[in-house]
Amino acid sequence: MEYRKLGESGLKISELSFGSWVTFVNQLNEKDAMSCMAYAYDKGVNFFDNAEAYAHGESEILMGDILKKLKWDRDTYIVSSKVFWGGDLPTQKGLSKKHIHDACNAALMRLKVDYLDLFFCHRPDPETPILESVYAMNDLLQQGKIMYWGTSEWSAQEINEAFLCAKKFNLRGPTMEQPQYNILCRERFENEYREIFKKYRIGSTIWSPLASGLLTGKYCNGVPKNSRFKVKGYEWLAQSMDSVDFNKINRINDLSKKINIKPSQLAILWCLKNKNVSSVILGASKLSQLKENLDSLNYLNLITDDIIEEINGY
Ligand code: NDP
Repeated sequence: MEYRKLGESGLKISELSFGSWVTFVNQLNEKDAMSCMAYAYDKGVNFFDNAEAYAHGESEILMGDILKKLKWDRDTYIVSSKVFWGGDLPTQKGLSKKHIHDACNAALMRLKVDYLDLFFCHRPDPETPILESVYAMNDLLQQGKIMYWGTSEWSAQEINEAFLCAKKFNLRGPTMEQPQYNILCRERFENEYREIFKKYRIGSTIWSPLASGLLTGKYCNGVPKNSRFKVKGYEWLAQSMDSVDFNKINRINDLSKKINIKPSQLAILWCLKNKNVSSVILGASKLSQLKENLDSLNYLNLITDDIIEEINGY
């Protein structure tokens, strides 16, 4: 495992990390989630991603229970939470100063840690002035409740505004962004953020490297049983299949066969080849998937510039 600097910060984050969206609670019970976290940690993963919204807070409770049981030293791992979707009431959502403070305190309780390493604004909130959210994050930094704050799926313009507010009032701007990035979803990361990466050197912890599993190739003949698109409450994901370019996915499958690795591994390594990526967050509903995905690091040398060019041309 290699470790990359998280943007301009001094924090070294593992290039592959592990997240809990959909899987924790819905697909992984405590025993299986613990096996995955323990395996990942043994392989050098140091970042575990979570959010107040995941399984309505239950995902953080589960991860917190596991962290307690595994008894890792607190200075050996990075754990995150995200604020935005905390509940149905008007005060329980968005990026107001109040909800940012409440969400942070609640996440600390659920994860059973004294501080969060990374705390993300899970989406932009058009109803709250960006300056208010930047101030709230700065407060949490000063209180030692979070180490770094970031954005998730903010536009380049919104990120720019956060930095301008921070500069004007001598506050800390975002250290990282958490966008979707994979072979099927490239526009924002590669084009819209181009200037942001150059100007502010922010880090990135990217999500859905396998496009929720599409890039494993297993959806090419329809939705398989026991897959994410069949998980109760996540059926909406299947709707996206109408616009998926399965021709591209088939070509990825063929290319991965040619170089003798799994399509999932090729898709993960393609993400890692982009130096603006600080960490690729993996998701897995089974330990065997996590093993296969972490194993991709053994094949990094197979991913030449020609391979990347070929994929980018599909
Ligand atoms: P992926 O795109 O890698 O999808 C993971 C899912 O794909 C698994 O749960 C599994 O689903 C399937 N899968 C993974 N590996 C394999 C394999 N080798 N063979 C077959 N199937 C496989 O990542 P996620 O979408 O889970 O995103 C990763 C993390 O990013 C999340 O856990 C979360 O922490 C973060 N995230 C952040 C978001 C944000 O808005 N900031 C949004 C979404 C995610 P199954 O077995 O059920 O088919």
